[in-house]
Amino acid sequence: MKYSDLIIVGAGPVGLYAAYYAGMRGLTVKIIENFDEAGGQPLNLYPEKHIFDVAALPETDGVKLTKGLLEQLSNIDYELITGQQVLKIIKNQELFDLQTEKDVYKAKAVLLATGNGLLKPRKLGVEGEAEAVEKGRLAYFIKNLDDYAGKSVAVLGGGDSALDWALELESLASEVHLIHRRLQFRAHESTVEAVEKSSIVIHTPYTASGLTDNGLLISKVKENQTEELQVDKILVFYGFLTESTEIVPGLELTPRMQVLSGPAMRTNIPGLYAAGDVCDYEGKLPLISVGFGEAAVAVNDMTRQVNFEHDLRKGHSSSIFGK
Ligand SMILES: Cc1cc2nc3c(=O)[nH]c(=O)nc-3n(C[C@H](O)[C@H](O)[C@H](O)COP(=O)(O)OP(=O)(O)OC[C@H]3O[C@@H](n4cnc5c(N)ncnc54)[C@H](O)[C@@H]3O)c2cc1C
Repeated sequence: MKYSDLIIVGAGPVGLYAAYYAGMRGLTVKIIENFDEAGGQPLNLYPEKHIFDVAALPETDGVKLTKGLLEQLSNIDYELITGQQVLKIIKNQELFDLQTEKDVYKAKAVLLATGNGLLKPRKLGVEGEAEAVEKGRLAYFIKNLDDYAGKSVAVLGGGDSALDWALELESLASEVHLIHRRLQFRAHESTVEAVEKSSIVIHTPYTASGLTDNGLLISKVKENQTEELQVDKILVFYGFLTESTEIVPGLELTPRMQVLSGPAMRTNIPGLYAAGDVCDYEGKLPLISVGFGEAAVAVNDMTRQVNFEHDLRKGHSSSIFGK
C-alpha cells in the first residue's frame, strides 16, 4: 500500500516550512492545499503589505515570503497537491485516510496547518453570479491571460490585485474598465499613477449592482444613477474570506474552534499534529515566526512518536546538508 510518512494539510507559510523541515529529516511528505496556489494568508489576504517580524528578514511581503519558502522547499523531495480540499481525516489503525473530493491519500502522520480555514474569494453578491462564473463571463482569478485577448473587461476592486491586473490587461484586452466604490484606490502610489496615465476607463465611486446579458450594471455611490457597461468579461477582486470546517471526527477543539494542541503540538489523536494559526494553547501567538517554530517541534516529535519504518536524518541542517 502506498502511503506518505507525513501529509500536511494547508500550504500556508507554516505548512510549507513544515514540509521542508520534514523532508530535511528524511520523511516522505505531501502537502494538500485547497487553493490553486501555495501561500496561505500572506499571499492571498495581504500580498503587498510589508511584514517586518520574521527572523532574519528585516522586511518582506506575502509574495516574497512564499517565493522564499518554495525555494527552500525545492531542496527536498515533496509533492504539493493544489486545488483539493481535505474533507475528512480518519485514522484506520496505523494509517490516516485523508479524503478530498478527488482522491483518498494515506499517511502515517498528519499535520494540520489549515490556518484560519479555507480561503474563499469575496463574491460580488448579485443575482446570476454563479451562472456567469459557470459560463466563464465572471471570475475571481485570472488563470489564463489569453482568455482576455481582444475582449472588453470590467475589473472590480480598488486594491493592488485589481489595479495590477487592470494594467496587465490593458495591452491585451480591447478595453478595460476599472470600477471602485471609493474615489481613492488602496493600491501602491506608483500603481495608481500608472493606472491614471493608462487608457483604462476609471469609474469611481461606483459599485456593481447587477449583471445583464451584455455586461454589468454599475451604480454611482449614494446617487440614483445606474448605467450599463457592455463588457465580455468581469473580474472581481474583492479579497478573500476565511471559512473554518471540521474535518477530523473526535478532534478536541477550543470554544473558538481551534485545535487544542498539547505538548509538542500533539492533538488528542496520536500521530495527528497541529501547527500555525489553526492551533491554540496557553500563550499562543498567531504569528508566522511562531508557526515556523511549532512546525519544527511537531515534526521532531513525530520522528520519535510515529514508527516510520525507515532511517531518518538527525542533527542540525548544517550537518545534514553541509559539506
Ligand atoms: C492582514 C494580516 C496581516 C498580518 N500580518 C502579519 C505580520 O506582519 N506578521 C506575522 O507574523 N503574521 C501576520 N499575520 C498572521 C499570519 O498571516 C498568520 O499567522 C499565518 O498566515 C499563519 O500561517 P498558517 O500557515 O498557519 O495558515 P494560513 O496562512 O491561513 O494558511 C492555511 C492554508 O490552509 C489551506 N486550507 C485550509 N483548510 C484546508 C483544507 N480543508 N484542505 C486543504 N487546504 C486547506 C488554506 O487554503 C490556506 O492556504 C497577518 C494576518 C493578516 C490577516
